[in-house]
Order: sequence, then structure tokens, then C-alpha cells
Amino acid sequence: METILNKQWHHLEGAEAARLLDTDPAGGLDEFEVDRRRKRFGENSISGRKGASALARFLLQFHQPLVYILIAAGAVTAFLGEWIDSGVIFGVVLVNALVGHFQESKAVRALNSLSANLSAEARVLRAGKAVRLPAPEVVPGDVVLLRSGDKVPADLRLLSEKELRIDESMLTGESLPAAKDGSPLPPDTVLAERRNMAYAGTLVSSGQGAGVAVATGNHTEIGRISGLIDSADELQTPLTRKIARFSRVLLLAILGLAAASFVLGVLRDEPVTAMFMAAVALAVGAIPEGLPAAVTIILALGVSRMAGRKAIIRKLPAVETLGGTTVICSDKTGTLTENQMTVQEIYAGGRAYAVSGLGYAPRGEVTPAEGGDGPGEALAECLRAGLLCNDAGIGVRDGRHRVEGDPTEGALLVSAGKYGLDRDRERDAFPRLDELPFESGRQYMATLHDAPGNEGRVVYLKGAVEKVLDCCKETLLPSGEVGELDAGAVIRAQRAMAEKGLRVLAFARRELPGDGRLERSAACAGMAFLGLQGMIDPPREEAEAAIAACLHAGIKVKMITGDHALTAQAIGLRLGLSGGDCDGKCPVMTGHEIAELDDAELIERVPGIPVFARVSPEQKLRLVMALQKNGEVCAMTGDGVNDAPALKQADIGVAMGEAGTEVAKDAADMVLTDDNFATIEAAVEEGRGVFANLVKFIAWTLPTNAGEGLVILTAVLFGAALPILPVQILWINMTTAGCLGITLAFEPMEPGSMDRPPRRPDSPLLGRPILRRIAVVSLLLLACAFGMFQWELAAGASMEVARTVAVNVFVTIEAFYLLNARSFTRSPLALGLGTNKWVLGGCGLMFVLQLLYTYAPVMHQLFASAPLGLVQWARVLGCGLAAYAIVEFDKKRASQDG
Ligand code: ATP
Repeated sequence: METILNKQWHHLEGAEAARLLDTDPAGGLDEFEVDRRRKRFGENSISGRKGASALARFLLQFHQPLVYILIAAGAVTAFLGEWIDSGVIFGVVLVNALVGHFQESKAVRALNSLSANLSAEARVLRAGKAVRLPAPEVVPGDVVLLRSGDKVPADLRLLSEKELRIDESMLTGESLPAAKDGSPLPPDTVLAERRNMAYAGTLVSSGQGAGVAVATGNHTEIGRISGLIDSADELQTPLTRKIARFSRVLLLAILGLAAASFVLGVLRDEPVTAMFMAAVALAVGAIPEGLPAAVTIILALGVSRMAGRKAIIRKLPAVETLGGTTVICSDKTGTLTENQMTVQEIYAGGRAYAVSGLGYAPRGEVTPAEGGDGPGEALAECLRAGLLCNDAGIGVRDGRHRVEGDPTEGALLVSAGKYGLDRDRERDAFPRLDELPFESGRQYMATLHDAPGNEGRVVYLKGAVEKVLDCCKETLLPSGEVGELDAGAVIRAQRAMAEKGLRVLAFARRELPGDGRLERSAACAGMAFLGLQGMIDPPREEAEAAIAACLHAGIKVKMITGDHALTAQAIGLRLGLSGGDCDGKCPVMTGHEIAELDDAELIERVPGIPVFARVSPEQKLRLVMALQKNGEVCAMTGDGVNDAPALKQADIGVAMGEAGTEVAKDAADMVLTDDNFATIEAAVEEGRGVFANLVKFIAWTLPTNAGEGLVILTAVLFGAALPILPVQILWINMTTAGCLGITLAFEPMEPGSMDRPPRRPDSPLLGRPILRRIAVVSLLLLACAFGMFQWELAAGASMEVARTVAVNVFVTIEAFYLLNARSFTRSPLALGLGTNKWVLGGCGLMFVLQLLYTYAPVMHQLFASAPLGLVQWARVLGCGLAAYAIVEFDKKRASQDG
């Protein structure tokens, strides 16, 4: 078979390809054969992705300005004969690279495993049945079914196709979708022109088809150029880029300062070695080099947390954008509502009927409303149309009736069943010959059937009421005769249903003589109207609370639906979308109105409208752009192929994990595994938490750098001995960042994070109060470390002891400041000390490390530390407590001012 896998499939007939692959085009492979082939060909996934190798990523850790400085410093120190210092510096470089590599790998792994969770699904014929399975389970010889929105799971030789168009831009660069056709082609046809093939990874933009898998995994065309599939490795976000840029500017400034202090010292006749050490200490201490990496880790942790709440992030920057979302545009059906449809009212032959029962169980009956006339031919045909123009099925799982396929269609099967129409009998009596599938843009579906008893053929049509009415001139009467259509009466009946929040579908038919065909261009013409069916789709219980939470958090919610304006309005009202300020009215704008507005008018009108109805997917793009022009940060949901442009344009494109097409998922930044609006709200809440933790981490980390820089500068300016040496600074930075700072990533969300309006998109990362806090703590570190160092020296302590005190002062203040930094406004006691156990654990670990630093002989050798007495410890602790109290006092003052 290996040799077969390399055949020129496009040159063969489809049936011949199936024969060579030993598969049945109508039934596919059986399970036994699938097992055999899976063992032989392995999983249908691409291995050995061309991401950076582990070694390359490790080596990249050395490609940082700080590391260059350290290596230069290590080399010069070695040259000066300071072997221990030089060894420590090189050791730190290595440990730093290892830690960086480990953390980065963890982030990459977390992201990769998430994108793997999202592996696409495929529909395949197995043993005569169409089944859905994860794309990696497809084997060569499988007969794969394609329809609009699917991602092609393997390289396929097409067996049949209907208006099939595939977007192959990722392979061929051709931006227009390629039309497909099954006939054989000359052997030398180039890939872009192989109309009878569908290639793995490409996207079906319209139509349907089936094909036999001729290559899977690494054997596919895309597998051969696997560099293209790199998806989630991207670890950069606008924020990390901003921080990296800030670090670079800072680096230059600090290097300039270090050089200046070196020259100043030398000019003052200080020893060159000491001045060199001071310059190195300044550079090493003041550059916040670890910041971008830590930010990435915090974002990656946020990604895992969101996955726990059923929101899968596909692109890392989405985590930070989510927190700043100002408006969420959501679909209605399935996201805000249950997508559990039940037909409750029918209008046929000018009469109204009620349908009893709830859900998909076939229990209930169709009775004339208000005791009017009994059923007539129009009612039967209306229900028959719903049953035949239908691709859904009802099955029983776990003792419950469930719909397989589109719930709207499931409801129509059930209503017909309640009337006594048997699905299998009807389908046998009216075999389906052709079909025009439902598409959101078209808003209707049509099927062609053989009528029983050689009476010719019949087309059944179902869809949005306006669309169906456009196709009809006459109507079917209860008697079975055809009469003139009273469109006004139909619209009145529709309004009455829609005002109750019912989703209304209209039905029509056309009888064709002889072997008439379903003309695609004129499928909808010359029809006889059959009736309406109105179904409820109850709002999701959790959606109402989630919308209220969003409105409370200053986030606007807009419902954008393909459904009718009145239905949308009724559901919008029930969900509280108008925010209670519209007096029982929820303003609605329809797709028609949108089409009539120019861009400027749309931009002006869009903020005041919570519900948009009968919106086509293309109009979603205009709505997103109009909202963005209003300065909004916009999250937008979508599930269809045509939603992709809007999802890409939105700041956060949200795709549905269950109902969404692969195309939509591909375009989205975030995928909801449960298709639920409440999950978006949860993700926004998490996003706010992640952003808050980021700012807390930055506000905690910057004073360390600033404090160290200030201590060294002051020493140089006053010509005093350095209170902390470069290797000691390295010790402080490495241990505190690893043990203390990173624990802020685990800080639980502060209560009230959804009580505030969203962060303004243009607001700076660190606001004035935070900058003030950073300045206060930096000065505290300077005063305490420098002061205690001088005090010790004045009291006759050795240089080693004085420096050990200074180092411990730094670490202790940072540990206390870590407690402060858990919240900008609340005291750690109010938060509860135990609510972030990582912080306590980190402080404990840090304490043990400091004991080692102070008392272990090897540390004395490596870091020139020395043992301290109890009184010295008490003073160190005093500094920590004083700093803690001052920051808490500052918080109080700030909250009173604010
Ligand atoms: P959403 O709120 O998620 O946009 P929607 O179901 O209201 O969902 P569409 O799926 O675009 O929006 O449907 C638009 C209209 O097309 C519906 O209001 C209905 O009248 C009609 N329709 C929906 N499903 C079908 C179907 N399977 N066959 C025929 N017509 C349909």
C-alpha cells in the first residue's frame, strides 16, 4: 500500500481510486479494516513540527542583553583573577538559562496541548454509516464527507461533489475558493489545478462532497511542508512586546549610567576594579530583564485557568485583550438560548393550531387553537414539508430523546410525529432526489422528491418567513385546493407568534410535472404557501445572570441574530439586554436597516442598539468595525463559514466548540467548549484577573531593580563602599523572582473585579498611583539597605556582615512588600492570608534560602556572606515591618483620596 500512497490520484477515476484503496465508496471501511490500517499508517497527524528545537530554544536563552553583560563581566572578573566571583557569574548565567528554558517550555507545552484539544473533527463513512470522529482517526481508504465549513482532514480523491468550493489559499496562495469537479485529469496537472482532489488543512467554503482518503498525516501535501501548521507557538503579545521595548530603552539608559559612574569613579581616583564592579552591579541590578518571560508565564497560566472554565484560548494575546473587553456581540441561538426547540404553534390554511408537549420526545398532540376546525390538508402538508425538507434525526440516548443534527429541524420532526406522520414511511413514499442545503446567507432550504404514485415530483421549501413569502403567489387551502395568498394574514400570524419569542419558519411546496428538476437559480419561485410553525427556544438560565454581570461590569452586550426582529426583541427583553432602561422595549435594528445606513450613520447609531435581527454574516463585519470606530474593544461570536471575517476583525473572535464550523474555529481567538454565553463572561472575568495579576507582578518587581540601582548609584556618588556586590544582586534577583514574584500569578481574583468598568484601551499599563507606589518602595529599599549597611559599618561590623545585612534587608522588604502587592487597595489581612498559599510557601522557602545564604560556609565562599546575630536579624525584620506598614498606610490614604 505504501507505493499506492504515492500514486497520481488525480489521474485516476474516483471509483478506480477507491478500488485501489480497497474501500467501498458507498459504505467506507469496516472497523476491523480501520484498526489494521491505523496500526499500519499511524495517526492522521503531523509529527515533527518545525518549531524551534529544544536545543535552539535553550541557546536562545543566552541571546539577551543581560546575559551579554554577565558574560562580559564574568570574563573580566576572571581576567582580574577573581575566580570565585567569575564562577558564580557564569553559574548564574547557566541557571538563568535553564530556568528560562524550563519555564518557556512549560508555556509552550500548555499552549500546544490546548490547541491539540481543539483538533478538528471529520465526518466519515464507516461500515455504511456516517460517523463523526476526531480528524486524527482518519485512515487511508476512509470515505470522508465534506460540507461547507469543514476542514478537510486528509488528502482526498473526490468521489462526488455538489457545488463544492474549497479555500486552498494556505497551499496554493490562491485567494478565491477553488471549484471542484470529480473527473480525471492529466498526470502532469499542478497541485493548484487538481480540481478532483481536496487537500488536508484546506477549508470547505461552500457545497458538499465526498472523497476517499489517499494520504494521511505526514504523507499529505501539508505534512510535507509542515512548517505552515505552526499555530500556538507564538508566545509574544502586544503587552510582552511593549515591555520588551521598554526594557531595551531602559537597558541603554542604564548602560549609559553605568559607564558614567565608572568614569566618574575613575576620575576620582577610585580603584578601577571596584568601579568596574560598581558599573556591573548597576547594570545587573537595574535591568528588569526577566519581566517579559514572567509576563508570558502569567498569561500562559491564565490560558490554563480559562480552559478550566471552558474557554479555550487559541492566541495568547487574547488573554490580555479579554480583560479589557468593552462590548460582547453574541449570537442568539444556542449561545443565549438553549437551542432546545419545540414547535408550539402552527398556522396553516388560515387556521391556528396548538402543539402540546416539550422537548424532543414524541409525546403531545396537534389541536385546533380555540376549538376551531379540525385538521385539513394544508396542516398535513405543512408538517410533511417540515419532515421531508429536513436532515436531522431523533435518537434516544441515556433514556432521553435527543436531536441529531440541527435542533430547528429536530423540532419539525417531532411536530410531524405528534400529528401522526411517520418519518420513515414518509421518506420511503417521497424519496429525496436533490437538495439545496440551508445556509444562513440564503435563509432557506429546498428538497426535491418523487411524489408517490407516479404523480411527478414535488419541491418542499422551508425557511425565514419573508424569504418563503417572496417565493409564493398562492396558498394551499384546508381542502387541499390552491387559492390566492393573503400575505397580510400570514404576516399577522407570524407577528403574533414572534411577539411571544417564538422562532417562526415558513413552508411551501411546488408540484413539478414529469421529471422536473430543482433549478438552483430558480429554486424559490412559483411556490404554494403551506403554513408556519412557531417554536420556542427558551433563554439559557445562566445567560440572564451573565448578561446582568456584564452590564454591571460596564460591558455592553449586543445580540446579533439571523432570527426575526420580533422574536429577537422578545428574547432580548427576557434576557434583560436593554439593561432595564428601555421601558419594556428593546430597540432592534434589522439587517435591512443596516444595509440602508452608510458607515458614518452606522457608527453613530450602533452604540444605542442592543439587538440586531435578520443580520447576514457579512453585516456582522460592518457591525464590528462600527463598534471599533466607537473605541470599543469588541468580542464577537460566530459559528459559520461566513462569520470568519467578522471573527478575525473582532478584538476577540469567539467560535462555538460544539456547533461551530472548523473555518470559524480557525479564525477565532477563543473557542467555547460549551457554546454558552456565560462562558464568555467567565473568560472576561478571568482576563481581568490575569491582567490585575500582571500589573501586581510588575509593580512588585520594578522596585527591586530601581532600589538596587539607587543603592549602587548612591554609593558611587558618595564614594562609599558598595552595600551589595554584583553577585549578591544576582542572588537577590534570581531567588526573589523565582520564590516570591511568580506566586502573584496564582493570586485569586479579588472580589469586585466585575464591579468596575473595563480598563480603557488607551490607558497606560501602570497608572499614576502604581508608579507612586513603585517610587515609594524603591526609596524605602534605598533608605533601609543603605542606612543599615552604614549603621553596621559604623558599629564596627566587618564589610561581609554589613553586606549580608543589606542583602537580607532587601529580601525581607521584598517578602513583606509581596504581601502588600497582593492588592492595591485591600490589606492582605482583609484578603485573608491563606487565600494565596503560594505566597506563604514562597516566603517560607525564601526564609530557608536566606538562612543558608547567611550561615552555610559554601555561601560565605561564593557570595562573601557572613553569619548574623539575633539583634541584627531583629533590625532586618524591623525594616521589613516598617516598609509593610508604610505601604499599607499609603494604600489607606490612596483609597481615602480616591
Ligand atoms: P443566530 O441567532 O445564532 O444567528 P439563527 O438560527 O437565528 O441563529 P440563522 O441560523 O442564520 O440564525 O437562521 C436565520 C433564519 O433562517 C432563521 O430565523 C430561520 O427563519 C431560518 N432557518 C434557520 N434554520 C433553518 C433551517 N435548518 N432550514 C431552513 N431555514 C432555517
